[in-house]
Amino acid sequence: MPYQLNLGRGAAVLGTLLLVQCGRPPEPAADADLAAEIAHIQAIDNHAHPVRAVPNGQPADREFDALPVDNMEPQSDPVNQRPDTPLLLDAAKALYRSSTKARTIQEKGDGYPAWVLDQMGVEVMVANRVAMGSSIQPPRFRWVPYADALLFPLDNSSLAAKNSDRKSFFALEDVLRRRYLADAGLPAPPATFADYLSRVVTATLERQKQGGAVAEKFEAAYLRTLAFDAVDRAAAERVYRQFAAKGVPPDSEYKLLQDFLFRYVAAECGRLGMAVHLHTMAGAGGYFDVSGANPLNLESVLNDPSLRKTNFVMVHGGWPFTREITPLLEKPNAYLDFSAQSLLLSAPTLAGTLREWLEHVPEKVLFGTDAYPYSNEMGWEESGWMAARTGRQALAMALTAMMRDGGISHARAVELARMVLRENAKKLYGL
Ligand SMILES: [Zn+2]
Repeated sequence: MPYQLNLGRGAAVLGTLLLVQCGRPPEPAADADLAAEIAHIQAIDNHAHPVRAVPNGQPADREFDALPVDNMEPQSDPVNQRPDTPLLLDAAKALYRSSTKARTIQEKGDGYPAWVLDQMGVEVMVANRVAMGSSIQPPRFRWVPYADALLFPLDNSSLAAKNSDRKSFFALEDVLRRRYLADAGLPAPPATFADYLSRVVTATLERQKQGGAVAEKFEAAYLRTLAFDAVDRAAAERVYRQFAAKGVPPDSEYKLLQDFLFRYVAAECGRLGMAVHLHTMAGAGGYFDVSGANPLNLESVLNDPSLRKTNFVMVHGGWPFTREITPLLEKPNAYLDFSAQSLLLSAPTLAGTLREWLEHVPEKVLFGTDAYPYSNEMGWEESGWMAARTGRQALAMALTAMMRDGGISHARAVELARMVLRENAKKLYGL
């Protein structure tokens, strides 16, 4: 019973000994009635990367991520993401039963992505994608596009030279920036900073809002630190003016511009009624800057009085800084989800973290999966199913422990489960 040991080592060990002596089996970590109720709550998945249904012979969908890097240098993979993880076999069996994935995709056609949500017990998936598509549409899917490319309008070669992963990432960001410029009817970034802000940044955000976006996503933690300082417009403008047309900005100068642009985008999101999503977690790749992704780096942004109309969602709940993120929930505009943790961690490990959050500010905690096409075998379907199952199990364990310790009633446990699985997100996005 590793989970109960977490709750109080001495008491739990004593309890276990007493139970063994009396010959009674230990209580299960999750209350059976509560787990059954949680299994039936139709969830809103705050963060995932669904893949479009593509007919045979058509090119594969590559818009499920702005940074879909397939060829990173080798890293040591976490156990739960290895191809032999037992939960993956359960997922494939539960999803396709006597059929196969390929046959099911052909049979369901454009209805396939929504069918996957049905298997996961998810009513609405917040889809973090470059663009949507005919099979990924409201009301089952809500759009969250990417805003990072707007932060890097200059020559990115110095930033790209840091390591092979950054090299791939900045090449992809440059492609997306050209796409945003083309959508704005511009062949290159405008000469003046005022034009860049209005004709590119604001115009892109407004177009995405009109296209149904409920939030803007930053994968910035893959590209730089999350310490976005408060910078004067004049300082940012000076850097833009000097390097917009030619030259490579020194990293420290470029950071001033990026920091200003981040807060500008965040303020615009607030004006337009979109949330800001930030990757806050250790990330893929052996060069990922874990300390740069510490959510405490965002504190000055969350404390910026001019950004209090913007809601920030710390996607992936800051792991491994899950304790550091807890007090940030007290900021009126700060939320978090536990997507990806639900895939990476075991249910008992995640339950310990969930309990701490639910005992603090439960109205700001959101369910999420980070369903993602990791491989042929672990597609967004399997990873989404796995994370949905582990996430629900962890929630049941955390709430069971809170009930057993006398902190909450069964009715309150069900209410908290509904809040985390759907009601908090419904309120945040006005769904
Ligand atoms: Zn993601």
